[in-house]
Amino acid sequence: MSARTIAEPARQIPLYGEYEVAVLGGGPAGIAAAVASARAGRRTLLIERYGFLGGMGTAAGVTNFCGLHANVFGEMHRVVQGVASDLLARIDRLNGLNAPHLVLGKIMAQAYDTAAYKIAADDLLTSHNVDILFHALGAGAVMRDNGRIDALMVETKAGRRAIVASIFIDCSGDGDLAAWAGAPYEVGDNAGSMLYPSMMFRLNGIDPEKAGDAWRTIPALMEQAEAAGTHHFPRKAAIVRPQRSQVEWRVNFTQLSRDDGRAINGIEPDDLTTGEIEGRRQAIKAFEFLRTVPGFENSYIVDIPPQLGIRETRRVVGDYMVSGEDVLECASFDDSIGVNGWPIEAHVAGDVVFKFPPIPESRGFNELPYRMLTPQGIDNLLVAGRCASMTHEGQSAARVSGACFVMGEAAGTAAALALSGNTPPRDIDVATLQTQLKRQGAFVGRDQTVPAGL
Ligand SMILES: Cc1cc2nc3c(=O)[nH]c(=O)nc-3n(C[C@H](O)[C@H](O)[C@H](O)COP(=O)(O)OP(=O)(O)OC[C@H]3O[C@@H](n4cnc5c(N)ncnc54)[C@H](O)[C@@H]3O)c2cc1C
Repeated sequence: MSARTIAEPARQIPLYGEYEVAVLGGGPAGIAAAVASARAGRRTLLIERYGFLGGMGTAAGVTNFCGLHANVFGEMHRVVQGVASDLLARIDRLNGLNAPHLVLGKIMAQAYDTAAYKIAADDLLTSHNVDILFHALGAGAVMRDNGRIDALMVETKAGRRAIVASIFIDCSGDGDLAAWAGAPYEVGDNAGSMLYPSMMFRLNGIDPEKAGDAWRTIPALMEQAEAAGTHHFPRKAAIVRPQRSQVEWRVNFTQLSRDDGRAINGIEPDDLTTGEIEGRRQAIKAFEFLRTVPGFENSYIVDIPPQLGIRETRRVVGDYMVSGEDVLECASFDDSIGVNGWPIEAHVAGDVVFKFPPIPESRGFNELPYRMLTPQGIDNLLVAGRCASMTHEGQSAARVSGACFVMGEAAGTAAALALSGNTPPRDIDVATLQTQLKRQGAFVGRDQTVPAGL
């Protein structure tokens, strides 16, 4: 981008509305935050740049929940409940939810259909009287002198609008609002790269009988094709798995890097543009290979999602940063708001590297501290989801949907408590937050019994 600048004349911006809580971003974190805040009786607005909810889960075609389960001393448990359970039940009623499946024989994930997710999330939010503003791109913050956000500025088809709220929750995935407000943040590995993005896509027209458990055989077929020189793959460890309808499979196969080998940067518009085009090119190449797999001969690409899948950009620095050691050592925190059972899943150049806590010796999950939601320096802001306060390694685990639901539900509930007590979110009584979360059906760890079942 050019370094030249243009002066923009100051102007009066119409007020869109005044809210008690405004949530930026409608991914797993934003969905849970908005529902929790509205459930607590707070006038809540969720702002989303697309015309649907789900975040990367729908907009980037992820179609699979990770982090809902933990491998607890060798046994699987659904450790993320609360708002996530309400959403899953709605997706299931729409016939859009698979049974949980084993990943690497060590942990569980659960696939879903994007259409069902979008409809279920609409229903969940509207039934809790969350106001939704779709097709509104958050574009800046107006601050008061004392480190408080006065208004979030959004760009809409009707022009620029201002949204005033007592408390804001940044669930943008990229920490956009926190960055505009001046909160400190880190980007990726702090050395110019970050977890590599992927362009997801889905195939239809697969013969399920013939394809069988093809996800087990595809990695070996890839190695053979690479050795024979017929195909080249930008990354190992491809994931190709069936959706609810067994004729449709999701493909998590691609990896997007810049010319210098570093990851495409999800907060750089030129990088994003290159990544989208190259991502679709890689998708076609992957499809050419997959058509050689038995059962895939007559398949076709039924969907390339609206955007490139971004795993990591800004990580906002809060009062505690969850680290890789916390994940691998199954850390406990007095101010736990819930748990993460997903291992470290590092998308490095050319590969995906998993690191698990010891199985079956460990309880398989770390607690997530409330302090990871409270950014330094800004009083009326909470940050939840993949841009919350975590180190690069910690985020490689707790960025997945399960932990994002946990953080979102805690942030929405905490915002309501802060308003009741007329205190900044940072100063709420965390024991009251934990009691409230448990009352809502959440599992916060601590002395609670691990929920039974899947
Ligand atoms: C390719 C890929 C595969 C993955 N696979 C899995 C998987 O199998 N299982 C799993 O659980 N997780 C997976 N993940 C991770 C997971 O999807 C994300 O980490 C998770 O969705 C993060 O949730 P979030 O709510 O923090 O943010 P996001 O899901 O990123 O949602 C942020 C939302 O905010 C909106 N937004 C952003 N900026 C603005 C703005 N300025 N104004 C208005 N709206 C804005 C976005 O449109 C989006 O809806 C994968 C991620 C990728 C990229």
